[in-house]
Amino acid sequence: MARFPYHVRPETAVLTRGFDPRLSVGSARPPVYRSSTYVFSSPEAAERAFAIVLGKIRPFQDEVPDLIYARLNHPNAQILEDQLVPLERGATAAAVFNSGMAAIFTVMMGFLEPGRSLLYTQPLYGGTQHLIHQVLEPLGFRTRQVPAGDTQGINRAIEASDDLALVLIETPSNPTLTMTDIAAAASAVRRHPRRPLLAVDNTLLGPTFQHPLVHDADLVIYSATKFLGGFSDLLAGAVLSADPQLIQRLRGLRALFGNILQADECWMLNSRLSSVRLRMERQSKNAQRIAEQLATNHRIKRVLYPSLFTDSEQIRIRDAQTDYPGSVFSLELHGGRLVAFDFLRRLQIGRNAVSLGGVETLACHPLTTTHSELSEHELAAAGITESMVRISVGTEHWRDLLEDFTRALD
Ligand SMILES: *Cc1c(COP(=O)(O)O)cnc(C)c1O
Repeated sequence: MARFPYHVRPETAVLTRGFDPRLSVGSARPPVYRSSTYVFSSPEAAERAFAIVLGKIRPFQDEVPDLIYARLNHPNAQILEDQLVPLERGATAAAVFNSGMAAIFTVMMGFLEPGRSLLYTQPLYGGTQHLIHQVLEPLGFRTRQVPAGDTQGINRAIEASDDLALVLIETPSNPTLTMTDIAAAASAVRRHPRRPLLAVDNTLLGPTFQHPLVHDADLVIYSATKFLGGFSDLLAGAVLSADPQLIQRLRGLRALFGNILQADECWMLNSRLSSVRLRMERQSKNAQRIAEQLATNHRIKRVLYPSLFTDSEQIRIRDAQTDYPGSVFSLELHGGRLVAFDFLRRLQIGRNAVSLGGVETLACHPLTTTHSELSEHELAAAGITESMVRISVGTEHWRDLLEDFTRALD
């Protein structure tokens, strides 16, 4: 697909890369290519396209092989992937999937092998945690968890796992907002004799406020359902890397799993990319104002939010790897579950729903919803309590939201 002829900044690249109107009767916006199959330019071109996709031969520089079949690749996925790359500092290639979970599962299947192990930070997104317990472990993959934010513990765990193939970090963690040092883990995997890969789930602060590839992570994973999509109306996932070979491997598996993002969803997501920075900056400013005000409210025991960190190691990691605190915070209320439920019931602007990153404010009770499958031990270790409420702040006016939260607390 088209490349802009000279270097431009990400905000420009996202609107100029990937799509050439001349290929689509001058259409200013990309069309949706809903075809499931593609007509070959010749039988020889078909043979060559298959040989390239099966990895039997390598394409020439700038060669554009014929498209084959939409499960393998299609123009809307190519356009979207080309436009995602400039948003992720350090990336050269991207692969899109039909959900964040599909992206995570494909990374696990692509880079774990039987007899080798996965190390992950705890807490993880609930779905990822279930996937590990209900699918990976029964399949015989060895897994091991370390507390998020424990830099020494993660270093030691990496050194001590001879069979390590993949390290998965989620930072900041959900719903506790604990940050994990990406650069330290990246240097530990590089010292390891079997050179495991480091993948970072960057859904909570990326692509705008945190850049894992700059800190030498190998793979960045997104639930694009969240900030990239931004309007709570589509499911999508993405993986980016500085190494195109890693992405190529994922695309190969994606063709077999059948979990490529469909053309319509690619088109919708593609139209959201140019506003992701604008939305995230507004949402982060809103959240920071609200979180810092709520921290002084006597009905609240604690606000978990990066600008309110008190632990010196957390402050160090925050300052080293994030630009802004983001738009998700968690509240610990005085009282127990009933107080948290009453707060959710009384909200009028914020809505009681899971998910995050959309332009509308959402609030949920992690213990009984997103993290309800965690054991007592895992909940205690992660610090997820009965009185905890997680809030994803949208683009509404922050004073209206603060009033809504304050009213719901009284
Ligand atoms: C939502 C989410 C996922 C899963 O993404 P889906 O698009 O819902 O499949 C993974 N990781 C994090 C951090 C998430 O917030």
